Amino acid sequence: MDKIAVIDLSKREVKVRDPNKDEQYFIGGKGLGFKVLSDNLRRDLIIFASGPLTGLRLSGLSRCEAVFISPLTGFVADSSCGGFFGRELRKAGYLAIILQGKSDKPVYIKIEDENIEICDADWLWGKNTFETEDLLKKELGKGFQIASIGQAGENLVRFACIEHAKGREFGRCGSGAVLGYIKVKAIAVKGSLDLEETIANYEKFEQLRDEFENRLEVLEGISKYGTPKMILLTNELGVLPTKYWQMGSFDSEIFDDVVKLYVRKKSCFGCKVGCAKISRFDAKEVEGPEYETLFAFGSLCGVRDAKIIAEANLLCDMFGMDTISAGNVIAFLFYLCERGIINEKYRFGDGEAVLELIRKISFREGIGDKLAEGVKRFAERLGVEGVHVKGLEPPGYDPRGLMGIALGYAVSYRGACHIKHCIYRPNLSG
Ligand code: SF4
Repeated sequence: MDKIAVIDLSKREVKVRDPNKDEQYFIGGKGLGFKVLSDNLRRDLIIFASGPLTGLRLSGLSRCEAVFISPLTGFVADSSCGGFFGRELRKAGYLAIILQGKSDKPVYIKIEDENIEICDADWLWGKNTFETEDLLKKELGKGFQIASIGQAGENLVRFACIEHAKGREFGRCGSGAVLGYIKVKAIAVKGSLDLEETIANYEKFEQLRDEFENRLEVLEGISKYGTPKMILLTNELGVLPTKYWQMGSFDSEIFDDVVKLYVRKKSCFGCKVGCAKISRFDAKEVEGPEYETLFAFGSLCGVRDAKIIAEANLLCDMFGMDTISAGNVIAFLFYLCERGIINEKYRFGDGEAVLELIRKISFREGIGDKLAEGVKRFAERLGVEGVHVKGLEPPGYDPRGLMGIALGYAVSYRGACHIKHCIYRPNLSG
């Protein structure tokens, strides 16, 4: 187990090897992924990597890292996805899979233990991520975990994401556009290893797991209400980005409206927190909206309707697009129209326009083609300033009121990122 699979799409060749001596010093998916990327800096390369604990039954160990050069920022980037994909990769015997080169036609990668195939995906190209996942599961049979791109990735939207399990994403920095560029529609993986058997001292593991998970009580609020509850705090502190960063507070009732849509909880593999919430509206279901989506399509766009925000969330998941960047670029358009810099009908608070623009961006139609380039490039074309750091659109924490966040955005290699330092937590709690 714990092999590295190198899948060369230009040569249509698969090689499996052990991690080399240097790679063994880099523990964890992010470390290993960056080591591989730094040895071979190229745009047609993406690494999906795990750590030695990934996939074990313990809260937080479900996550898998994608490491690549961001089409949005031009810098190195990584993006982490929960769910079941990372565990399945390790069950199939891989610490990492490296996709390199570019296929001349759409393909998907099928991994079943030691068997890896590059398969034709003409029949999947043009489908959204939900359809792709359903079709592949039907084609391949039970037990496969799927990560796929939708139309946004195919059309090289610079902030396209990779979707997994209809609600989990390799979300930020445009990993979906990398897969679209190398013409990989999806990765399907199934493994048969028993990861628990790989633990040298299972009794000790169980003891540590109990100790660790007892401490998770501090996350009770997140467990009960998901991340949207944070909106009450950011709103009260005046750091909830509103109407494209012009104000710092909005309508806190939106939180109550979102909570009313919740019908059940969902967890990544083995996680006791279960922060994900499934919302139901108009006979549809969506995982979310999370705080970041709620801010991006809510306060930032001036939209007060929880159902519209849930629908925007669903469309982004299906087309395969990062909600933070999508909300920012749409709100930026509203701002430019309000200021008379662009002569279009769009205005803050118009929820239907948000939904229409998500579609237009995904298919690069009309104004959507320009927005698909992200805030930085769109602003540069117009000769104006937009809000971004290193080309990455910021999440829902106004750095003018949160000094740690300001420092975090400034120095993060990903740009305006809240995840790599998590300093918004001590900032918000004072
Ligand atoms: S359910 Fe939430 S807290 Fe648990 S691993 Fe998934 S994202 Fe993290």
